Amino acid sequence: MGLCKVNRAKLMNKKQCEDVFKKLSDMWPNAKCELLHNNHFQLLIAVVLSAQATDKSVNKALDPLLIKFPQFSAFNLVEMGEEGFLQIIRSIGLAPTKARNCFKLSQILIDKYKGEIPLEREKLEALPGVGRKTANVILNVLCGLPTMAVDTHVERLSQRIGLVAQTKDRLKIEQDLLNIVPKKYAVKAHHLLIFHGRYHCIARNPKCELCPIEPLCFKVGLKH
Ligand code: SF4
Repeated sequence: MGLCKVNRAKLMNKKQCEDVFKKLSDMWPNAKCELLHNNHFQLLIAVVLSAQATDKSVNKALDPLLIKFPQFSAFNLVEMGEEGFLQIIRSIGLAPTKARNCFKLSQILIDKYKGEIPLEREKLEALPGVGRKTANVILNVLCGLPTMAVDTHVERLSQRIGLVAQTKDRLKIEQDLLNIVPKKYAVKAHHLLIFHGRYHCIARNPKCELCPIEPLCFKVGLKH
């Protein structure tokens, strides 16, 4: 399956969308957040570190730390210092900025929330390095809320399959997905799209011939 610039304006209807998520759900029954974490703080740090980096690279950097300190917390990070944390995450892209943000947000968590993570969007997004996408992941994974974190896989797949219109505006993609994804799949939807994008419908080499949703997929932007 090659790539081309052909786009199609047509979008899936609710029934087609439901069928797609049913098949994705059957294909990826264990789809979930793959960032290693033992507590809420570790998940927040991992999601902050995963911006413009793969989950694999974040896990690789944090794994030795979490083995040594299974309950690594905001207090531990502040004690370690920004420079100490930077040494641990230096293999991840944008490490200096991320280390600074993680250090600062740890200080804020200690000062304002006794080291705990506030599970409210507004408070999360007020933390350094935490944007809408990170808040969506936290609220979804820790609270089971039907949020839609739009990363590179969700952006690519939702448009390629024909679930949402073509746009670079991730907020619009998020809102369009929230409107069309059936309630039944709302909590798991972003994990399903991420798993399918990460392991099957890969950016430059989608495995259409082996894809269970091939009969439904609009393959927007692909040569037919
Ligand atoms: S049919 Fe092809 S383009 Fe559509 S989801 Fe499957 S692998 Fe991706």
